[in-house]
Amino acid sequence: MLRAELLGRQAQRESAARTYARTIPVAPVTALGAEVTGADGRTYLDCLSGAGTLALGHNHPAVVTALQEALASGVPLHTLDMITPQKDSFSAELLGRLPGTLRDRAKLHFCSPAGTDAVEAALKLARHATGRTGVIAFTGAYHGMTLGASSVSGPDRMRGAAAQAQPVTRLPYPYGYRCPFGIGGEDGAGLSARLLESFLTDPGSGVAAPAAVILEVVQGEGGVIPGPDSWLREIRRITAAHGVLLIVDEVQTGIGRTGHYWACERAGVTPDILVTSKAVGGGLPLALIAYRPDLDTWLPGDHTGTFRGNTLAMIAGEITLRTVGERQLAERAEKLGARLRSGLRELARDFPQIGDVRGRGLMIGAELVDAGAGPDALGARPGAPEFARAVQAACLDRGLILELGGRGGTVLRLLPPLVLTDAQADTVLDRIADALAAAVS
Ligand code: PMP
Repeated sequence: MLRAELLGRQAQRESAARTYARTIPVAPVTALGAEVTGADGRTYLDCLSGAGTLALGHNHPAVVTALQEALASGVPLHTLDMITPQKDSFSAELLGRLPGTLRDRAKLHFCSPAGTDAVEAALKLARHATGRTGVIAFTGAYHGMTLGASSVSGPDRMRGAAAQAQPVTRLPYPYGYRCPFGIGGEDGAGLSARLLESFLTDPGSGVAAPAAVILEVVQGEGGVIPGPDSWLREIRRITAAHGVLLIVDEVQTGIGRTGHYWACERAGVTPDILVTSKAVGGGLPLALIAYRPDLDTWLPGDHTGTFRGNTLAMIAGEITLRTVGERQLAERAEKLGARLRSGLRELARDFPQIGDVRGRGLMIGAELVDAGAGPDALGARPGAPEFARAVQAACLDRGLILELGGRGGTVLRLLPPLVLTDAQADTVLDRIADALAAAVS
C-alpha cells in the first residue's frame, strides 16, 4: 500500500487532535530494536520508541517469545483484576525493584492502562488518605490528559476545562536554563523548594493544606528538564515535615531510562506514591501505582476499571523489568546518554542555534534558540519553534524519528530504546548534524 494513500485516507477519518501522524508522517509496518520500517520501504532510527515505552526496543526476542508461548498455551487474555500466575510473578519482580522503603513493602494498585489513569489514581488516593483536596504541582509539568491529570499539568492549553477539577497551586519548576527567578543553577532551584515551604508554613499564603505535591524528577514533555538532586531532597524533607504526600510521576523516567532504575533513586528520595506506566508494560498498555502500605485506605471497589492488569502486558512487563535490571541497562543508558549529550554539545559549537543540551541517561533534550537574538541575563536566547520544526522534519528526511517538546515546542527530544547500539548513537548524531545544516541553509 502506498504510504501517501494510507496517510491521506486516515487523515480523513481521524479527529483533528491527532498529533504524531502530522509531525511524523511515517506508516510503520515492521520494527526491530531501534529501527522501524515504514510503508514507504524506508528504515528509520526510532528515537521516540513509543514515547519511551519500549525500553528493550521493538520486538525484543525475549518479549516476543514469551508472548507467543503465552498465546499458544491458552492463557486468558483478560481477567479484570483477578489473580493470575502472571500477575503474581510480575508483582514480585516489580516489588523487588522499587526504590527505597517501597521495595518489597509497597502496596500495588493496578490501574486502567495509561499513565494518565495511574496519575488519576494517585491523586484520588492522596485525597482519600489525607482527607484533603488541594495539590501542589509544577509549571511545565505533564501528567496526562484526563481531567485530574491535566489539571496538574503545565501549559495552559492542557488545563482548559480541567482547571476546575481540583484546587491546584503551581510552583516554578527548577528550569536552570530559563530560571523563573532569574537565578541559575542550584540557587534558583533552592528558591522553588523554599517557596513550597513558605506556602505550607505561612497561614497568609492562602494555600490550604494540600493533600500532595506531584512532580516529575525530569520533566519530559515540558522540555527534558532534570530537577537538581538537592531540590528533590528539599521537597522530600518539606513534604514529610508537613504531612503532605509526595507523588513522583515516573511514567516516563522509570525502568532505567534516566541512568537509574527509578529517577528518584539518584537523589536517594523515596516518594509516598510512585506512578508508573509506559515501559513497565514492555510495550503493552499497563499502569499502576506503588505506595506506602499505610496509605491503603481504599475499600473494595473504591477505584476500579475494566482494563486493569492485562495478562500479556504483565508478561512483557516482567521480562522488561528483569532484563533492564540483569543487563544493567540503566548503566548503559547513562553511558550512551553521556555520549549523545557530549556529541550534541560539540555540535552546538558549530550551530549556535543549540542553546542548551541536557537530560539524564537516555532522556535527552536540545533546546533550539534564535541565535541572532540577544541573550537574557542568564545567557538564554529566545526559543525558535519554526526552526525546531524544520530540524525535526529534516531529521525525518534523513531517517531519524524524534519528537519536539518543551515550552513552545523548541526542544528536540530523544527517547531511544535502552538497547540502542553505540554505532546507532553515532548515526543519530550524524543525522542531527546533517539536519541542522539543512535547516540553517
Ligand atoms: N506522566 C508523564 C510524566 C508522562 O510523560 C506521560 C505521557 N507522556 C503521562 C503521565 C501520561 O501517560 P499516558 O499518555 O499514557 O496517559
